[in-house]
Order: sequence, then C-alpha cells, then structure tokens
Amino acid sequence: MPSHYLAQVEIDGLEIIGYSVAGEETVVAMPQLDVCFDIGKAPDQIISVNHVLLTHGHMDHAAGLAYYLSHRNFCGMAPGVVLAPKNLLGPIRDILQAWGRLDGNSIPAKLVGVEPGDEYAVKPNLFARAFPTKHSRGSVGFTLIERRKKLKDQYHGLTGPQIVELKKQGVEIDYRLDIPLVTYLGDTQYVDFSQLDYIRTSRILIAECTFYEDEHSGRAEAGRHMHINEFVRLIESLDNEHIVVTHTTARTPMSEVRKVLKNDLPKDKYDRMILLMDQRRGRRNTA
Ligand SMILES: [Zn+2]
Ligand SMILES: [Zn+2]
Repeated sequence: MPSHYLAQVEIDGLEIIGYSVAGEETVVAMPQLDVCFDIGKAPDQIISVNHVLLTHGHMDHAAGLAYYLSHRNFCGMAPGVVLAPKNLLGPIRDILQAWGRLDGNSIPAKLVGVEPGDEYAVKPNLFARAFPTKHSRGSVGFTLIERRKKLKDQYHGLTGPQIVELKKQGVEIDYRLDIPLVTYLGDTQYVDFSQLDYIRTSRILIAECTFYEDEHSGRAEAGRHMHINEFVRLIESLDNEHIVVTHTTARTPMSEVRKVLKNDLPKDKYDRMILLMDQRRGRRNTA
C-alpha cells in the first residue's frame, strides 16, 4: 500500500500526481517528464522520479528531501537530482549530512543551485527554467520547456544531400523552437507573470491559490500567498490552455473553494481549470 493517497489528473496524455494543501504538504509530480515540483513528505509514488524541482525551503514543501534521496539509494537507483534556489544549498547539505550521521549511511545527491533565468536539461530536449517568485528569500518557480530544432523556411523542399551539403558548409539551416509545456508557480504572492511570455503561453499552468474568503486576505498578505482576488487578476492576464489549482487552504471546505472559483473566474477560464485536491475523493493510487 502506498504511503499517500495522491490526486491524479491527466492532461493531454500527461499525468500529474500530487498532494497540495497549504501548510500541510505540497508535492506535484509529472512522471512522464521525470520531474517532481517540490517534494512534500516524499510519497512512495514519486521516489523513482529523477528530478526534484524545489521552489523554496518551507517544511511542507521540502521535508521529504532527505528521505527521497536516501530511499533511492536504498533501492539501488541513481542519486536524485535536486534543483533548488542557490541560497538553500548550504542548509540542504547541512541537513543531508546530519541525516547521514543519524542514519549511519551517507546520502548521495546531485544538488544544483538555481537562480532566476537559469536552465537545466532534465532530458535532452526538455529544460527547466527558473523564474523569481514573491514568497521567501530566493524562492523560484519553474517552467518546463521543450526545445526543438526546425528547418528554416527557406530550406524547405531541399533534398537530403543538399541539406547535408549546406551543413558541411557551416550554414545554420535550423532555428530553435521553444515550447513551454508546464509552469509551476510554487508559493507566491501576486506577480504580473504575464510579462514572461513562456509563463503566459505555457500549455499547463500549475498555480497556487490559497485563500478564498474576504477575511482571509490578511493571511494571504502575511504568508505571501495568493488570494482569489489576485488569482483572478493573474489568470485573466495569461493564455494557458489548462490551469491546475494547488495549495488550497484547509480553512475553507473544498465545496466552497469550487463554488468561489466558479463564481469569480470568467467562464472560459473556469472551464479550463482543474482543482488538484478535488481529484482524489475515493481514488486509490495505482502508481
Ligand atoms: Zn506552501
Ligand atoms: Zn511556502
């Protein structure tokens, strides 16, 4: 039996599994892309995913890091790759060392510090790009970008040997095409993310919207989280085909969250929205 019951969503053939409740736990994995955004308490189902993209150091997002890395080692897997804000690498190393001493076994890890604008290849044609968020010092979000090479228009219709010849002559016959597949905002206050084209046009947006009641706007401000009023403003400025809402507060019942989203979002936006934690009632995990 798995350690967690996770929500499960499929969008355009891409599976998203995870759990995300504010202050409790947040972990959102896309196994086919081999990435897990944040690690929560390291559910069994995501141990085999090779990359963890950590957005910030809050316990509910990062607590499972040592277990994830250590359990992979125990199962004979390659060391997990952890992308994390550069300013967190020191504390992460300290924690892994302390756990290593406590456990009696060192914990292998590949730690990669990232700053806004950095890219890391999670697959040969898939890059994780970090961007700044407004939550805690150094906090980031990530966009997964598929990078393709396309033949420039003027070379269409050429034969294979002609293309080979041009390449031999050192002619740049391709151009780079970036396709933003998924953006994960992590925890953040409202930021005008529409200014970053790769976020605005990401096919899938995974966004936090923590608070839904008027009297919770102070909490949103204090915790640097998104309130429904700001979330609506954000979503209206973006062009994503699918919106997955995460990090909902346990202070508001899920039925009420659903009602508020339906009421406050324009219909065309509501129709492309999936509430992550609404996808788990009665579902057992098979992963
Ligand atoms: Zn959080
Ligand atoms: Zn946080």
